[in-house]
Amino acid sequence: MYSRIKKLLIANRGEIARRIIRACESLGIETVLVASDPDQKSLAAQEAGGVVALAGSTARETYLNKEAIIAAARSTGCDAIHPGYGFLSEDGDFAQAVIDAGLIFVGPSPQSIRALGVKTTARETVTRAGVPVTPGSFSAGSDEDLERAAHGIGLPVIIKAAAGGGGRGMRIVRAIEEMRESLAQARSEALKNFGSPDVFIEKYIEEPRHVEVQIFGDTHGKVIHFGTRDCSSQRRHQKLLEEAPAPFLDPDIREKIHHAAVAAAKSVGYYNAGTAEFLVKGRDFYFLEINTRIQVEHPITEAITGIDLVALQIKVAMGEPLPCEQSEVRFQGHAIELRINAEDSMEGFRPATGTIASWTRASIVGIREDSGYQEGDTIPPFYDSLLSKVIVRGETRAHALSEAFQFLRGYAIEGVPTTIPFHAWILSNPQFQENGIDIGYVERTFTAEGAREALALLARDPAHREPGPDGSPYQEIVTGSALPAGAVSLTVVHEQGGTFLAVPVDAHGQTLPKEHWRRALTRAALVGS
Ligand code: ADP
Repeated sequence: MYSRIKKLLIANRGEIARRIIRACESLGIETVLVASDPDQKSLAAQEAGGVVALAGSTARETYLNKEAIIAAARSTGCDAIHPGYGFLSEDGDFAQAVIDAGLIFVGPSPQSIRALGVKTTARETVTRAGVPVTPGSFSAGSDEDLERAAHGIGLPVIIKAAAGGGGRGMRIVRAIEEMRESLAQARSEALKNFGSPDVFIEKYIEEPRHVEVQIFGDTHGKVIHFGTRDCSSQRRHQKLLEEAPAPFLDPDIREKIHHAAVAAAKSVGYYNAGTAEFLVKGRDFYFLEINTRIQVEHPITEAITGIDLVALQIKVAMGEPLPCEQSEVRFQGHAIELRINAEDSMEGFRPATGTIASWTRASIVGIREDSGYQEGDTIPPFYDSLLSKVIVRGETRAHALSEAFQFLRGYAIEGVPTTIPFHAWILSNPQFQENGIDIGYVERTFTAEGAREALALLARDPAHREPGPDGSPYQEIVTGSALPAGAVSLTVVHEQGGTFLAVPVDAHGQTLPKEHWRRALTRAALVGS
Protein backbone atom coordinates (compact mmCIF):
# COMPACT_ATOMS: atom_id res chain seq x y z
CA MET A 1 0.00 0.00 0.00
CA TYR A 2 1.71 3.13 -1.24
CA SER A 3 0.50 6.64 -0.42
CA ARG A 4 2.64 9.47 -1.65
CA ILE A 5 3.31 12.38 0.70
CA LYS A 6 3.20 15.70 -1.14
CA LYS A 7 3.23 18.11 1.77
CA LEU A 8 4.44 17.39 5.28
CA LEU A 9 3.88 19.27 8.52
CA ILE A 10 6.80 19.43 10.93
CA ALA A 11 5.63 19.41 14.55
CA ASN A 12 8.96 20.46 15.99
CA ARG A 13 11.59 23.19 16.07
CA GLY A 14 15.34 23.84 16.06
CA GLU A 15 17.88 21.66 14.35
CA ILE A 16 15.59 18.64 13.88
CA ALA A 17 12.99 20.78 12.08
CA ARG A 18 15.72 21.91 9.68
CA ARG A 19 16.92 18.33 9.30
CA ILE A 20 13.40 17.23 8.30
CA ILE A 21 13.14 20.13 5.83
CA ARG A 22 16.36 18.94 4.16
CA ALA A 23 15.08 15.37 3.91
CA CYS A 24 11.80 16.60 2.40
CA GLU A 25 13.68 18.73 -0.14
CA SER A 26 15.66 15.71 -1.25
CA LEU A 27 12.38 13.83 -1.80
CA GLY A 28 10.54 16.70 -3.51
CA ILE A 29 8.06 17.12 -0.63
CA GLU A 30 6.74 20.54 0.39
CA THR A 31 6.97 21.51 4.07
CA VAL A 32 4.93 23.44 6.60
CA LEU A 33 6.33 24.26 10.02
CA VAL A 34 4.42 25.12 13.16
CA ALA A 35 6.22 27.83 15.14
CA SER A 36 5.69 29.26 18.61
CA ASP A 37 5.94 33.02 19.25
CA PRO A 38 9.69 32.98 20.04
CA ASP A 39 10.37 30.78 17.00
CA GLN A 40 8.66 32.94 14.36
CA LYS A 41 11.98 34.15 12.93
CA SER A 42 14.00 30.99 13.50
CA LEU A 43 16.22 29.47 10.82
CA ALA A 44 13.74 26.62 10.45
CA ALA A 45 10.86 29.09 9.95
CA GLN A 46 12.87 30.88 7.25
CA GLU A 47 13.58 27.62 5.45
CA ALA A 48 10.19 25.90 5.65
CA GLY A 49 7.80 26.16 2.71
CA GLY A 50 5.15 27.64 4.98
CA VAL A 51 4.73 28.54 8.64
CA VAL A 52 1.66 28.26 10.87
CA ALA A 53 1.95 30.33 14.03
CA LEU A 54 1.06 28.63 17.31
CA ALA A 55 0.17 31.32 19.81
CA GLY A 56 2.19 31.17 23.01
CA SER A 57 5.69 30.30 24.14
CA THR A 58 5.58 27.28 26.42
CA ALA A 59 5.75 23.77 24.99
CA ARG A 60 2.33 23.02 26.44
CA GLU A 61 0.75 25.94 24.57
CA THR A 62 2.54 25.20 21.30
CA TYR A 63 4.51 22.07 20.33
CA LEU A 64 2.45 19.86 22.65
CA ASN A 65 -0.88 21.27 21.47
CA LYS A 66 -2.22 18.26 19.56
CA GLU A 67 -5.46 19.82 18.30
CA ALA A 68 -3.75 22.98 17.03
CA ILE A 69 -1.06 20.97 15.24
CA ILE A 70 -3.50 18.63 13.51
CA ALA A 71 -5.69 21.62 12.57
CA ALA A 72 -2.60 23.33 11.09
CA ALA A 73 -1.85 20.26 8.96
CA ARG A 74 -5.41 20.13 7.65
CA SER A 75 -5.76 23.83 6.94
CA THR A 76 -2.53 23.87 4.91
CA GLY A 77 -3.33 20.76 2.88
CA CYS A 78 -0.61 18.56 4.40
CA ASP A 79 -0.95 14.82 4.10
CA ALA A 80 1.55 13.84 6.82
CA ILE A 81 3.06 14.94 10.14
CA HIS A 82 6.65 14.35 11.25
CA PRO A 83 6.98 14.78 15.03
CA GLY A 84 10.82 14.87 15.22
CA TYR A 85 12.06 13.92 18.69
CA GLY A 86 10.80 15.05 22.10
CA PHE A 87 7.42 16.86 22.27
CA LEU A 88 4.70 14.58 20.77
CA SER A 89 7.01 12.05 19.13
CA GLU A 90 6.31 9.25 21.63
CA ASP A 91 2.67 9.98 22.33
CA GLY A 92 0.56 7.07 21.09
CA ASP A 93 -2.64 9.09 21.40
CA PHE A 94 -1.22 11.81 19.16
CA ALA A 95 -0.12 9.26 16.55
CA GLN A 96 -3.64 7.80 16.62
CA ALA A 97 -5.26 11.25 16.35
CA VAL A 98 -3.07 12.04 13.30
CA ILE A 99 -4.20 8.81 11.63
CA ASP A 100 -7.84 9.44 12.61
CA ALA A 101 -7.59 12.84 10.91
CA GLY A 102 -6.73 11.03 7.67
CA LEU A 103 -3.04 11.96 7.81
CA ILE A 104 0.13 9.87 7.75
CA PHE A 105 2.12 9.77 11.00
CA VAL A 106 5.83 9.53 10.22
CA GLY A 107 6.76 7.02 12.90
CA PRO A 108 5.73 3.66 14.28
CA SER A 109 2.13 2.54 14.84
CA PRO A 110 0.25 3.94 17.85
CA GLN A 111 0.10 0.34 19.14
CA SER A 112 3.90 -0.03 19.08
CA ILE A 113 4.36 3.34 20.77
CA ARG A 114 1.96 2.37 23.54
CA ALA A 115 3.34 -1.15 23.96
CA LEU A 116 6.86 0.23 24.41
CA GLY A 117 5.90 3.37 26.35
CA VAL A 118 5.14 1.52 29.57
CA LYS A 119 8.44 0.11 30.80
CA THR A 120 6.97 -2.84 32.69
CA THR A 121 4.95 -4.04 29.69
CA ALA A 122 7.92 -3.53 27.37
CA ARG A 123 10.18 -5.57 29.65
CA GLU A 124 7.69 -8.41 29.70
CA THR A 125 7.18 -8.38 25.93
CA VAL A 126 10.85 -8.38 24.99
CA THR A 127 11.66 -11.02 27.59
CA ARG A 128 9.20 -13.34 25.86
CA ALA A 129 11.18 -12.71 22.66
CA GLY A 130 14.35 -13.89 24.42
CA VAL A 131 15.89 -10.44 24.98
CA PRO A 132 17.81 -10.11 28.28
CA VAL A 133 16.56 -7.42 30.68
CA THR A 134 17.95 -6.43 34.08
CA PRO A 135 16.72 -8.67 36.90
CA GLY A 136 13.67 -6.95 38.37
CA SER A 137 9.91 -6.79 38.56
CA PHE A 138 7.69 -7.03 35.49
CA SER A 139 4.80 -5.15 36.98
CA ALA A 140 4.28 -2.18 39.20
CA GLY A 141 3.58 -3.48 42.69
CA SER A 142 2.71 -2.36 46.19
CA ASP A 143 5.51 -1.23 48.52
CA GLU A 144 5.47 -4.67 50.16
CA ASP A 145 5.75 -6.46 46.79
CA LEU A 146 8.64 -4.30 45.68
CA GLU A 147 10.46 -4.64 48.99
CA ARG A 148 10.13 -8.41 48.74
CA ALA A 149 11.37 -8.27 45.14
CA ALA A 150 14.38 -6.19 46.25
CA HIS A 151 15.32 -8.92 48.74
CA GLY A 152 15.18 -11.45 45.92
CA ILE A 153 17.24 -9.39 43.45
CA GLY A 154 19.73 -8.07 45.97
CA LEU A 155 20.75 -4.45 46.49
CA PRO A 156 21.40 -1.97 45.00
CA VAL A 157 18.17 -1.57 43.06
CA ILE A 158 16.79 1.30 41.03
CA ILE A 159 13.17 2.42 41.33
CA LYS A 160 11.65 3.62 38.07
CA ALA A 161 8.31 5.05 37.03
CA ALA A 162 6.48 2.51 34.85
CA ALA A 163 5.40 5.34 32.53
CA GLY A 164 8.69 7.23 32.93
CA GLY A 165 11.07 8.77 30.43
CA GLY A 166 13.71 11.43 29.92
CA GLY A 167 15.85 10.12 32.76
CA ARG A 168 13.44 11.52 35.33
CA GLY A 169 12.08 10.12 38.55
CA MET A 170 14.58 7.31 39.10
CA ARG A 171 15.97 6.46 42.56
CA ILE A 172 18.81 4.20 43.53
CA VAL A 173 18.38 2.25 46.78
CA ARG A 174 21.51 0.90 48.43
CA ALA A 175 20.11 -0.05 51.87
CA ILE A 176 16.78 -1.77 52.51
CA GLU A 177 15.92 0.74 55.27
CA GLU A 178 15.84 3.46 52.59
CA MET A 179 13.40 1.53 50.45
CA ARG A 180 10.09 2.82 51.87
CA GLU A 181 11.07 6.46 51.77
CA SER A 182 12.54 6.17 48.26
CA LEU A 183 9.39 4.43 47.05
CA ALA A 184 7.23 7.23 48.45
CA GLN A 185 9.38 9.88 46.75
CA ALA A 186 9.51 7.97 43.47
CA ARG A 187 5.74 7.50 43.48
CA SER A 188 5.03 11.15 44.06
CA GLU A 189 7.51 12.19 41.33
CA ALA A 190 5.99 9.63 38.96
CA LEU A 191 2.51 10.94 39.63
CA LYS A 192 3.60 14.53 39.10
CA ASN A 193 5.61 13.89 35.91
CA PHE A 194 3.82 10.99 34.25
CA GLY A 195 0.31 11.02 35.71
CA SER A 196 0.65 7.61 37.38
CA PRO A 197 2.20 6.57 40.72
CA ASP A 198 3.14 3.13 39.33
CA VAL A 199 6.77 2.23 39.92
CA PHE A 200 8.82 -0.95 39.61
CA ILE A 201 12.35 -1.98 40.51
CA GLU A 202 15.37 -3.27 38.65
CA LYS A 203 18.79 -4.43 39.72
CA TYR A 204 21.06 -1.38 39.65
CA ILE A 205 24.01 -2.14 37.38
CA GLU A 206 27.21 -0.48 38.63
CA GLU A 207 29.26 1.48 36.09
CA PRO A 208 27.78 0.10 32.86
CA ARG A 209 28.07 1.56 29.38
CA HIS A 210 25.12 2.83 27.41
CA VAL A 211 25.00 1.06 24.06
CA GLU A 212 22.10 1.46 21.67
CA VAL A 213 21.14 0.03 18.31
CA GLN A 214 19.49 1.92 15.47
CA ILE A 215 16.69 -0.27 14.23
CA PHE A 216 14.44 0.26 11.25
CA GLY A 217 11.34 -1.60 10.15
CA ASP A 218 9.07 -1.24 7.13
CA THR A 219 5.34 -1.86 6.87
CA HIS A 220 6.01 -5.15 5.03
CA GLY A 221 7.30 -6.93 8.14
CA LYS A 222 11.05 -6.45 7.66
CA VAL A 223 13.24 -5.15 10.50
CA ILE A 224 16.98 -4.50 10.18
CA HIS A 225 19.56 -2.61 12.21
CA PHE A 226 22.11 0.06 11.33
CA GLY A 227 24.60 -0.79 14.06
CA THR A 228 25.47 0.46 17.52
CA ARG A 229 26.13 3.80 19.19
CA ASP A 230 27.77 4.41 22.55
CA CYS A 231 26.26 7.23 24.61
CA SER A 232 27.99 6.73 27.95
CA SER A 233 29.11 10.34 28.14
CA GLN A 234 26.23 11.67 30.22
CA ARG A 235 25.35 14.03 33.04
CA ARG A 236 22.02 13.74 34.86
CA HIS A 237 21.29 10.70 32.63
CA GLN A 238 21.40 12.95 29.57
CA LYS A 239 23.81 12.44 26.70
CA LEU A 240 26.61 14.86 25.82
CA LEU A 241 28.72 13.03 23.27
CA GLU A 242 27.89 9.94 21.23
CA GLU A 243 29.91 7.72 18.94
CA ALA A 244 29.24 5.06 16.35
CA PRO A 245 29.94 2.23 16.28
CA ALA A 246 30.11 1.56 20.04
CA PRO A 247 33.84 0.95 20.72
CA PHE A 248 35.46 -1.74 22.89
CA LEU A 249 32.80 -4.39 22.28
CA ASP A 250 33.76 -7.98 21.52
CA PRO A 251 32.47 -8.88 18.04
CA ASP A 252 30.29 -11.72 19.39
CA ILE A 253 28.68 -9.43 22.00
CA ARG A 254 28.06 -6.76 19.37
CA GLU A 255 26.33 -9.36 17.19
CA LYS A 256 24.19 -10.53 20.14
CA ILE A 257 23.16 -6.94 20.90
CA HIS A 258 22.23 -6.34 17.24
CA HIS A 259 20.19 -9.51 17.31
CA ALA A 260 18.44 -8.64 20.59
CA ALA A 261 17.53 -5.18 19.26
CA VAL A 262 15.92 -6.61 16.13
CA ALA A 263 14.13 -9.31 18.17
CA ALA A 264 12.79 -6.66 20.57
CA ALA A 265 11.49 -4.59 17.66
CA LYS A 266 9.89 -7.59 15.97
CA SER A 267 8.17 -8.58 19.22
CA VAL A 268 5.86 -5.57 18.85
CA GLY A 269 5.59 -5.56 15.04
CA TYR A 270 7.71 -2.42 14.89
CA TYR A 271 8.12 -0.26 11.82
CA ASN A 272 9.90 3.05 11.04
CA ALA A 273 12.96 4.28 12.98
CA GLY A 274 13.57 3.23 16.56
CA THR A 275 16.42 2.87 19.01
CA ALA A 276 16.89 -0.09 21.32
CA GLU A 277 18.89 0.96 24.38
CA PHE A 278 21.02 -1.42 26.44
CA LEU A 279 23.28 -1.27 29.46
CA VAL A 280 26.50 -3.19 28.89
CA LYS A 281 28.74 -4.44 31.69
CA GLY A 282 31.64 -6.67 30.66
CA ARG A 283 30.12 -9.41 28.52
CA ASP A 284 26.61 -8.93 29.96
CA PHE A 285 24.03 -6.69 28.38
CA TYR A 286 20.52 -5.71 29.43
CA PHE A 287 17.69 -4.20 27.40
CA LEU A 288 16.45 -0.88 28.80
CA GLU A 289 13.88 0.39 26.33
CA ILE A 290 13.05 1.18 22.72
CA ASN A 291 12.71 4.86 21.91
CA THR A 292 10.00 5.01 19.27
CA ARG A 293 11.32 7.97 17.29
CA ILE A 294 14.34 9.37 15.46
CA GLN A 295 17.08 10.02 17.99
CA VAL A 296 19.12 13.25 18.46
CA GLU A 297 22.31 11.28 17.72
CA HIS A 298 21.09 9.69 14.45
CA PRO A 299 23.69 11.58 12.29
CA ILE A 300 26.61 9.48 13.54
CA THR A 301 24.85 6.37 12.21
CA GLU A 302 24.27 8.19 8.93
CA ALA A 303 27.98 9.08 8.84
CA ILE A 304 29.14 5.46 9.05
CA THR A 305 26.40 3.86 6.91
CA GLY A 306 25.76 6.53 4.29
CA ILE A 307 21.99 6.18 4.86
CA ASP A 308 19.72 9.22 5.20
CA LEU A 309 17.65 8.01 8.14
CA VAL A 310 15.14 10.87 8.09
CA ALA A 311 14.44 10.45 4.38
CA LEU A 312 14.06 6.73 5.03
CA GLN A 313 11.51 7.47 7.78
CA ILE A 314 9.43 9.38 5.26
CA LYS A 315 9.76 6.71 2.56
CA VAL A 316 8.74 3.96 4.97
CA ALA A 317 5.77 6.09 6.10
CA MET A 318 4.68 6.24 2.44
CA GLY A 319 4.70 2.44 2.37
CA GLU A 320 8.02 1.85 0.63
CA PRO A 321 9.96 -1.26 1.59
CA LEU A 322 13.41 -0.93 3.20
CA PRO A 323 15.95 -0.38 0.40
CA CYS A 324 18.38 -3.08 1.49
CA GLU A 325 18.93 -6.38 3.24
CA GLN A 326 20.80 -6.58 6.52
CA SER A 327 23.81 -8.08 4.74
CA GLU A 328 24.00 -5.04 2.44
CA VAL A 329 24.39 -2.52 5.27
CA ARG A 330 28.03 -1.39 5.25
CA PHE A 331 29.81 0.29 8.15
CA GLN A 332 32.72 2.56 7.34
CA GLY A 333 34.91 4.41 9.80
CA HIS A 334 33.96 5.93 13.12
CA ALA A 335 31.81 8.97 13.88
CA ILE A 336 31.26 11.12 16.94
CA GLU A 337 28.73 13.78 17.76
CA LEU A 338 29.35 16.65 20.15
CA ARG A 339 26.19 18.16 21.55
CA ILE A 340 26.76 21.89 21.76
CA ASN A 341 24.25 22.93 24.41
CA ALA A 342 23.49 26.35 25.85
CA GLU A 343 24.71 25.19 29.24
CA ASP A 344 27.46 26.33 31.52
CA SER A 345 29.64 23.25 31.76
CA MET A 346 31.90 25.13 34.19
CA GLU A 347 28.93 25.66 36.55
CA GLY A 348 27.39 22.21 36.87
CA PHE A 349 25.96 22.25 33.33
CA ARG A 350 23.41 24.86 34.32
CA PRO A 351 21.06 25.62 31.39
CA ALA A 352 21.67 29.13 30.06
CA THR A 353 19.88 31.59 27.86
CA GLY A 354 21.12 34.69 26.10
CA THR A 355 21.92 36.05 22.68
CA ILE A 356 24.57 34.50 20.45
CA ALA A 357 26.90 37.47 19.91
CA SER A 358 29.24 35.59 17.59
CA TRP A 359 29.70 32.08 16.28
CA THR A 360 32.91 31.23 14.49
CA ARG A 361 34.34 28.13 12.87
CA ALA A 362 37.92 28.04 11.61
CA SER A 363 37.53 24.78 9.77
CA ILE A 364 34.52 23.04 8.34
CA VAL A 365 36.12 20.63 5.89
CA GLY A 366 34.63 17.20 6.36
CA ILE A 367 32.57 18.33 9.37
CA ARG A 368 28.79 18.22 9.50
CA GLU A 369 27.07 20.66 11.76
CA ASP A 370 23.31 20.54 12.37
CA SER A 371 22.25 23.70 14.19
CA GLY A 372 18.97 25.26 15.09
CA TYR A 373 20.36 28.75 15.65
CA GLN A 374 22.69 31.32 14.12
CA GLU A 375 24.62 34.38 15.19
CA GLY A 376 22.27 37.05 16.59
CA ASP A 377 19.62 34.57 17.75
CA THR A 378 18.33 34.66 21.31
CA ILE A 379 17.93 31.28 23.01
CA PRO A 380 14.41 31.04 24.46
CA PRO A 381 14.15 29.51 27.93
CA PHE A 382 11.13 27.36 27.07
CA TYR A 383 12.66 24.38 25.26
CA ASP A 384 15.72 22.11 25.43
CA SER A 385 19.22 23.57 25.51
CA LEU A 386 20.54 22.03 22.27
CA LEU A 387 22.14 24.67 20.04
CA SER A 388 23.98 22.56 17.58
CA LYS A 389 25.44 19.14 16.84
CA VAL A 390 28.95 18.74 15.50
CA ILE A 391 29.38 15.45 13.67
CA VAL A 392 32.86 14.24 12.81
CA ARG A 393 33.80 11.11 10.91
CA GLY A 394 37.24 9.51 10.85
CA GLU A 395 38.75 6.36 9.41
CA THR A 396 39.34 5.09 12.95
CA ARG A 397 38.13 6.12 16.40
CA ALA A 398 41.43 7.83 17.21
CA HIS A 399 41.25 9.70 13.92
CA ALA A 400 37.67 10.87 14.61
CA LEU A 401 38.57 12.05 18.14
CA SER A 402 41.61 13.87 16.83
CA GLU A 403 39.63 15.53 14.01
CA ALA A 404 36.99 16.66 16.50
CA PHE A 405 39.62 18.14 18.80
CA GLN A 406 41.21 19.98 15.86
CA PHE A 407 37.79 21.32 14.89
CA LEU A 408 37.25 22.73 18.39
CA ARG A 409 40.50 24.73 18.00
CA GLY A 410 38.74 27.22 15.78
CA TYR A 411 35.22 26.89 17.11
CA ALA A 412 33.82 29.57 19.40
CA ILE A 413 30.43 30.81 20.52
CA GLU A 414 30.21 34.13 22.36
CA GLY A 415 27.27 35.45 24.34
CA VAL A 416 26.02 32.18 25.84
CA PRO A 417 27.99 29.63 27.84
CA THR A 418 28.17 26.26 26.06
CA THR A 419 29.39 22.70 26.47
CA ILE A 420 32.52 23.39 24.36
CA PRO A 421 34.83 23.27 27.46
CA PHE A 422 33.35 19.88 28.35
CA HIS A 423 34.07 18.54 24.86
CA ALA A 424 37.68 19.78 24.98
CA TRP A 425 38.00 17.92 28.29
CA ILE A 426 36.43 14.62 27.22
CA LEU A 427 38.25 14.48 23.87
CA SER A 428 41.61 14.90 25.60
CA ASN A 429 40.77 12.57 28.50
CA PRO A 430 43.12 9.53 28.58
CA GLN A 431 40.51 7.15 30.01
CA PHE A 432 38.00 8.12 27.32
CA GLN A 433 40.60 7.85 24.57
CA GLU A 434 42.12 4.57 25.63
CA ASN A 435 39.41 2.44 27.22
CA GLY A 436 36.14 4.35 27.00
CA ILE A 437 34.02 5.36 29.95
CA ASP A 438 30.96 4.18 31.88
CA ILE A 439 27.78 6.23 32.29
CA GLY A 440 28.85 7.65 35.66
CA TYR A 441 32.39 8.65 34.66
CA VAL A 442 31.63 12.25 33.70
CA GLU A 443 29.75 12.96 36.92
CA ARG A 444 32.49 11.35 39.01
CA THR A 445 35.48 13.02 37.40
CA PHE A 446 34.63 16.16 35.39
CA THR A 447 35.76 19.41 37.00
CA ALA A 448 35.89 23.01 35.80
CA GLU A 449 39.63 22.94 36.55
CA GLY A 450 40.08 19.93 34.26
CA ALA A 451 38.13 21.71 31.54
CA ARG A 452 40.33 24.80 31.88
CA GLU A 453 43.44 22.64 31.36
CA ALA A 454 41.86 21.09 28.28
CA LEU A 455 41.04 24.55 26.92
CA ALA A 456 44.68 25.53 27.43
CA LEU A 457 45.74 22.45 25.43
CA LEU A 458 43.27 23.48 22.75
CA ALA A 459 44.75 26.98 22.64
CA ARG A 460 48.27 25.72 21.99
CA ASP A 461 49.67 26.21 18.52
CA PRO A 462 48.59 23.15 16.56
CA ALA A 463 51.74 23.14 14.44
CA HIS A 464 53.89 23.12 17.58
CA ARG A 465 56.47 20.33 17.69
CA GLU A 466 58.66 19.72 20.67
CA PRO A 467 62.20 18.86 19.52
CA GLY A 468 63.56 15.41 20.39
CA PRO A 469 66.87 14.94 22.26
CA ASP A 470 68.79 14.97 18.97
CA GLY A 471 66.92 17.93 17.57
CA SER A 472 64.68 15.69 15.44
CA PRO A 473 60.91 15.86 15.81
CA TYR A 474 59.97 14.96 19.39
CA GLN A 475 60.75 11.35 20.22
CA GLU A 476 60.63 9.58 23.52
CA ILE A 477 61.25 5.97 24.42
CA VAL A 478 58.83 4.57 26.98
CA THR A 479 59.15 1.20 28.69
CA GLY A 480 57.03 -0.42 31.39
CA SER A 481 53.45 -1.37 31.98
CA ALA A 482 51.78 0.64 29.22
CA LEU A 483 53.27 -1.50 26.45
CA PRO A 484 51.20 -3.50 24.00
CA ALA A 485 51.77 -7.29 23.99
CA GLY A 486 55.03 -8.25 22.31
CA ALA A 487 56.64 -4.83 22.66
CA VAL A 488 59.60 -3.89 24.85
CA SER A 489 59.44 -0.17 24.21
CA LEU A 490 57.32 2.53 22.66
CA THR A 491 58.55 5.43 20.63
CA VAL A 492 56.23 8.34 21.19
CA VAL A 493 56.27 10.80 18.33
CA HIS A 494 54.71 14.23 18.56
CA GLU A 495 52.94 14.59 15.28
CA GLN A 496 51.60 17.66 13.60
CA GLY A 497 48.32 18.93 14.98
CA GLY A 498 48.84 17.81 18.53
CA THR A 499 48.19 14.12 17.98
CA PHE A 500 50.74 11.76 19.46
CA LEU A 501 51.71 8.56 17.73
CA ALA A 502 53.29 5.68 19.62
CA VAL A 503 55.20 3.06 17.66
CA PRO A 504 55.91 -0.16 19.61
CA VAL A 505 59.20 -2.02 19.10
CA ASP A 506 59.82 -5.70 19.97
CA ALA A 507 62.84 -7.38 21.64
CA HIS A 508 64.63 -7.66 18.28
CA GLY A 509 64.34 -3.96 17.63
CA GLN A 510 61.63 -4.55 15.03
CA THR A 511 58.72 -2.15 14.75
CA LEU A 512 55.40 -3.93 15.38
CA PRO A 513 52.89 -3.89 12.50
CA LYS A 514 50.72 -0.81 12.00
CA GLU A 515 47.65 -2.25 13.73
CA HIS A 516 49.59 -2.10 17.01
CA TRP A 517 50.47 1.57 16.62
CA ARG A 518 48.54 3.88 18.85
CA ARG A 519 47.43 7.44 18.31
CA ALA A 520 46.00 9.79 20.90
CA LEU A 521 45.58 13.42 21.70
CA THR A 522 47.68 13.41 24.81
CA ARG A 523 50.97 11.73 25.63
CA ALA A 524 49.42 10.54 28.88
CA ALA A 525 46.74 8.62 27.01
CA LEU A 526 49.43 6.68 25.17
CA VAL A 527 51.72 5.78 28.00
CA GLY A 528 49.15 5.55 30.77
CA SER A 529 50.84 8.01 33.08
P1 ADP B 1 14.37 6.95 30.70
O1 ADP B 1 13.27 6.32 29.92
O2 ADP B 1 13.88 7.89 31.76
O3 ADP B 1 15.45 7.51 29.83
P2 ADP B 1 15.93 4.51 31.14
O4 ADP B 1 15.34 3.28 31.70
O5 ADP B 1 16.19 4.53 29.67
O6 ADP B 1 15.00 5.75 31.55
O7 ADP B 1 17.28 4.86 31.89
C1 ADP B 1 17.94 6.09 31.71
C2 ADP B 1 19.35 6.02 32.26
O8 ADP B 1 19.34 5.66 33.66
C3 ADP B 1 20.23 4.98 31.61
O9 ADP B 1 20.86 5.46 30.43
C4 ADP B 1 21.24 4.73 32.71
O10 ADP B 1 22.15 5.81 32.75
C5 ADP B 1 20.41 4.78 33.98
N1 ADP B 1 19.85 3.46 34.36
C6 ADP B 1 18.63 3.00 34.06
N2 ADP B 1 18.43 1.75 34.55
C7 ADP B 1 19.56 1.41 35.19
C8 ADP B 1 19.98 0.22 35.91
N3 ADP B 1 19.20 -0.84 36.06
N4 ADP B 1 21.23 0.23 36.41
C9 ADP B 1 22.05 1.29 36.27
N5 ADP B 1 21.72 2.42 35.62
C10 ADP B 1 20.48 2.49 35.07
